[in-house]
Amino acid sequence: ESDWSGFDGDGSEDGEEGVAVPQPTLAVVGRPNVGKSTLVNRIIGRREAVVQDVPGVTRDRIAYDALWNGRKFTVVDTGGWEPDATGLQAAVAAQAELAMEAADVILLVVDATVGATTTEEAVAKILRRSKRPVLLVANKVDDERLMAETASLWSLGLGEPWPVSGLHGRGSGDLLDEILRALPESPRDDFNPVAGPRRVALVGKPNVGKSSLLNRLTGENRSVVDSVAGTTVDPVDTLVELDDETWRFVDTAGLRKRVNFASGAEYYASLRTKAAIDSAEVAIVLLDASEPISEQDLRVLTMAVESGKGIVLAMNKWDLVDEDRRKEMVRELERGLVRVPWAETVNISALTGRAVRKLAPALRTALASWDTRVPTGRLNSWLTDLIAATPPPVRGGKQPKVLFATQAATRPPTFVLFTSGFLEAGYRRFIERKLREEFGFTGSPVRISVRVRE
Ligand code: GDP
Ligand code: GDP
Repeated sequence: ESDWSGFDGDGSEDGEEGVAVPQPTLAVVGRPNVGKSTLVNRIIGRREAVVQDVPGVTRDRIAYDALWNGRKFTVVDTGGWEPDATGLQAAVAAQAELAMEAADVILLVVDATVGATTTEEAVAKILRRSKRPVLLVANKVDDERLMAETASLWSLGLGEPWPVSGLHGRGSGDLLDEILRALPESPRDDFNPVAGPRRVALVGKPNVGKSSLLNRLTGENRSVVDSVAGTTVDPVDTLVELDDETWRFVDTAGLRKRVNFASGAEYYASLRTKAAIDSAEVAIVLLDASEPISEQDLRVLTMAVESGKGIVLAMNKWDLVDEDRRKEMVRELERGLVRVPWAETVNISALTGRAVRKLAPALRTALASWDTRVPTGRLNSWLTDLIAATPPPVRGGKQPKVLFATQAATRPPTFVLFTSGFLEAGYRRFIERKLREEFGFTGSPVRISVRVRE
């Protein structure tokens, strides 16, 4: 009777550990009791109790891994968000907004035995704005006689209703096939890698050794990339061979020309720095190891952090560093680099060539972190455990709940937490620290934003 036989269960055991495999997300939206959880259980192929008999109870997990016909995807069950004091309509609207933000395909579930209520009309109006496919599910169509009920759901303006019975499985195979057709191969915000060599900005205050390092890296046969091929326009970028890989050092024209502005030199230098970082994917921030870290160094560093690009710190002029200076520097770094404890530091000498090769692995690590995507299912199961062990501090007598998290973007990794209340800055930092412990992100900034569901 069920056309779900052969279903392969969830995919959490095979291959997800360690590697961040991007997989698309399906979000299930609808009023309470229309059968969302029952349907999610069908989709993830588990009989375990996702369904709660106690209304209003927030389940501890809402994202699950599913596998159908060899394709993996994440199912987000918004059924865990039962309406609170803010009312049913607002709660379902919030689900829809979340789904539009986080999912690749949205399933609106309606109870066919009840038909479309004003809540469904309201949510359909929101979902019609969705840029992602929305599938309309007429649930509880347990037998042929109920088929007629589904026709009225055309009025929601979301296309053809899919009649299913989540409870018995009827029609659900067809629905799953349709879901697979609608799901993209990879998540919607899967970054699109820029073709060609990775782009590196070489930045730092004047005299820190930028030109020397560029010369060292390019040697005699510097290859120059023209901004417009075949014209006489100033060369802008430089191609560098380092550790068997070609890198594109951006905006290097000024480095080679050594322009001296009589006044406003620093202003121009900072404009140039900003432009270079903006057009790069990762920045090598050069510091002069033989001198104390200055305000100017910190300004460059701040610029790099705020740009959201990957960062490698290079302590240059290491040939001038003796034991006393080294000890001093450790203290300075602890103070000065509090903002970037996550960046890798490489000690180099542009003059002697010491360790410049080591820049390459550090750049690769930073870029890999910058590109990382944590699958929604894995993110949420990790977060659930973290929050159970260390819940957010109570504010005004209320315990804020973290309902769901999603990585909204890569480059840099950007996370959105949906919560039922305000999270203090200290707690957000705690989450970032734990996120880094769990998933790495060496050399990349990580952004976390919090959406409070009113
Ligand atoms: P949710 O609140 O939307 O997650 O709904 P649930 O999955 O908890 O289901 C609410 C009630 O509807 C439960 O008692 C289910 O057993 C029942 N239900 C779910 N799907 C079906 C269905 O296809 N047919 C029938 N007859 N009942 C269903
Ligand atoms: P830029 O202004 O950042 O491009 O710095 P330059 O490359 O022009 O270097 C400024 C000065 O520092 C020059 O006199 C370089 O020879 C010197 N310099 C650069 N790198 C090193 C290094 O690794 N060790 C030492 N001892 N001197 C260096």
